[in-house]
Amino acid sequence: MKERRPIIVAGGGIGGLAAAIALADKGWPVEVIERASEFREIGAGIQLGPNGARMLEALGVAPLLAPSAIRLTEIAVYDGLSGSHLASLPLGASAEERYGAPYWAVHRADLHGALLRRCEDIDGVRLRTGVALARLQSTPDGVIVGTETGKNLQGAGLVLADGVWSTGRCQLFPRTEARFLGKTASRALLAAPDAPPSMIEPRVGLWLLPHAHVVHYPVKAGSQLNIVVILKDDWMEQRWDGSGEQVFIEERLASAAPALRELVAIPGQWGRWPLYELDPLKRWSNGLVTLLGDAAHPVLPFLAQGASLALEDAVTLADSLARQGDVLAAWQSYGNQRRPRTARLQATSKRNGRIYHLSGPSRLARNLAMRNLPAARLLAQYDWIYEFGR
Ligand SMILES: Cc1cc2nc3c(=O)[nH]c(=O)nc-3n(C[C@H](O)[C@H](O)[C@H](O)COP(=O)(O)OP(=O)(O)OC[C@H]3O[C@@H](n4cnc5c(N)ncnc54)[C@H](O)[C@@H]3O)c2cc1C
Repeated sequence: MKERRPIIVAGGGIGGLAAAIALADKGWPVEVIERASEFREIGAGIQLGPNGARMLEALGVAPLLAPSAIRLTEIAVYDGLSGSHLASLPLGASAEERYGAPYWAVHRADLHGALLRRCEDIDGVRLRTGVALARLQSTPDGVIVGTETGKNLQGAGLVLADGVWSTGRCQLFPRTEARFLGKTASRALLAAPDAPPSMIEPRVGLWLLPHAHVVHYPVKAGSQLNIVVILKDDWMEQRWDGSGEQVFIEERLASAAPALRELVAIPGQWGRWPLYELDPLKRWSNGLVTLLGDAAHPVLPFLAQGASLALEDAVTLADSLARQGDVLAAWQSYGNQRRPRTARLQATSKRNGRIYHLSGPSRLARNLAMRNLPAARLLAQYDWIYEFGR
């Protein structure tokens, strides 16, 4: 490898580690700085559409994750009040053939752990924990990253992958703070023997309620069930490890169908995430600094696509650098390629959230429309998302 200053990646989450792998695979030295004292992910599940699974293949990470991943066969949608089945999105072998990649459910720690192992195997990647970006400066021939301990790091370019509350984004583009949506997501994991047996099957259950919805699917090769409850809430602390209260969730779902009430009564312990959003940005890069993942385009979790998009960003960014050979031009071209797609996904996800949470007569109209929509047409609506990179 030629003597080059590294590309600095701020943030060692799913997006940051994926970017490090993709850039190093193209021959660039990379230095990842992560604020936390160790690399870790919270205990919860994550769905990876065929577009995300394909990116993991390109990054050489898919084989490391495959043993614990669940190949999902369908997303079954229910009315959460009556418990009646509304529609099913078929995801089995035919969808896998259609998109050329599987639809996976994984544990976040397994995904993050697989990305980390791949990083550790690449000579060109340096990983540093307990180092937080505090300030950034782009000069004509490089970047200077000021850390919270006062030390400066120098690089050929900077990728801000520091999440939805990105410190770097707000310095690069003032007045781009994310807004609280007024909703939270509470998550719990159940050991398979404690879960209703039908819910451990390789499928997603999606239950729609007025101002709320519940999602569940198995993870860790079927040994655990992941449950997420999204509802109106005013808990808005900027962290992803708040504790949710059992009583609060049971009270809010008191009018739900019996199967759903029984499910949310099991866990006892929940963790809570506040949901934040940001309008699509007009630019992602300024000089030699660019944004990636949630820092660039936080996506509400009503399409289960945020992590897959961060993986797509990582692969596109590295391809762009390999093609342009020059950081400034590469960052610009990457942003131009990615912004229309991520903006469309942000809008579609937000719209999905509104549809999921309808109440009164609109809820009944939605149910009728969903019941009458053929499965093939339902799936075709997602082609533009799942076919990416084919
Ligand atoms: C309830 C919920 C469910 C979801 N479900 C799905 C799903 O099923 N499928 C899917 O694809 N996506 C899903 N998502 C979205 C997905 O979790 C995110 O899009 C993804 O984690 C973004 O990864 P990231 O690396 O961009 O950011 P993060 O995961 O937020 O990583 C940012 C990293 O930067 C570090 N950091 C922060 N500040 C600094 C700093 N100043 N200096 C250095 N490091 C810093 C943080 O410690 C962190 O490690 C869901 C999101 C939520 C909230």
